Amino acid sequence: MALARESHVEELHVEVFDIPTDQPEADGTLSWDATTLVLVRARGGGCEGLGWTYDTSACKAVIDDQLASVVCGHSIFDVPAANEAMRRACRNLGGPGVAACAISAVDIALWDLKARVLELPLADLLGRAVKRVPIYGSGGFTSYDDQTTRAQLERFCHKWSIPRVKIKVGESRGQAERRDLERVALARKTIGPDVELFVDANGAYTRKQAIRLGAVMAAEHGVSWFEEPVSSDDLAGLREVRDQCQLDVAAGEYGYAPWYFAPMIAAEAVDCIQADVTRCGGITAWRDVAGLAAAHQLQISGHCAPNLHVHVAISAANLRHLEYFHDHVQIEEMLFDGTLPPTGGALVPERQAPGHGMTLRENEAARYRVA
Ligand SMILES: [Mg+2]
Repeated sequence: MALARESHVEELHVEVFDIPTDQPEADGTLSWDATTLVLVRARGGGCEGLGWTYDTSACKAVIDDQLASVVCGHSIFDVPAANEAMRRACRNLGGPGVAACAISAVDIALWDLKARVLELPLADLLGRAVKRVPIYGSGGFTSYDDQTTRAQLERFCHKWSIPRVKIKVGESRGQAERRDLERVALARKTIGPDVELFVDANGAYTRKQAIRLGAVMAAEHGVSWFEEPVSSDDLAGLREVRDQCQLDVAAGEYGYAPWYFAPMIAAEAVDCIQADVTRCGGITAWRDVAGLAAAHQLQISGHCAPNLHVHVAISAANLRHLEYFHDHVQIEEMLFDGTLPPTGGALVPERQAPGHGMTLRENEAARYRVA
């Protein structure tokens, strides 16, 4: 342990994986057929920490060219100092987007490395504020046919007993209102009356459209969560929907730094803040966002990457829930050992495994490695 206390980050190694989705997918404003995972291995103190982000392969160039030189040499124990150094190094590059995702992946790898060097579970290193992390099953893509939607919702609710689910709405940038409502009705019929039903429009609706459809979805189908009913850049619009609808309005998945959330909170635009640990600046920044939300009597919900998110999510007393997102669940289950079971609707980090407890399945991952 005395040796470990003198340890420094020695190396960042970055790999990129392209993983096809199990079928073509779409939400209200985007369609895709593959997901890119940028994996960072942070080495030092005789251990290796793993972090990743779901973003473009360009993150690898940012890490190799801008971040590795400012992170290596930092004490393994001073992750916030390394995080600050990375932010400063990206000044001219521009902070949001690719740079923030790259910083996030490195920050997570550094926290994992620190926990492994100390032989502690990451959740115990950060400190637990709640006993479990409630999850919601998330998928319900607009590209799915009814049979696929039904089968996925049944898996979430009936096989895994997750008591809350989310589907996408706003198909074709809000041009398919009738189908949106039919799919919401199908979802409610499939899950029964007791499971919470959420929708995510990914910014596809206009303000008036969101208010009109939100009222119907709440009154007729018991929808309780309306994510990005309008663009998350339209803070006045989010506020207007929030004022006019009973549903909880949520946004924040494109927050690439803690300070992104201050104007959103000041505008009283949301009922619950969402933050993504693989985008917002990693575990260091996610905790800042949770603190900012708590200071304004708001809860925080973790966006995607459930097996990475759970370790920091459990450290937030104002946690509402975590998104158990279909694409990322598939990838994390396939590429990593040590993922957590969703059964019962909550994830609980183990007390035994050091770090976040996950290791890459090298042979499986090799099939998808592109850089
Ligand atoms: Mg969303």
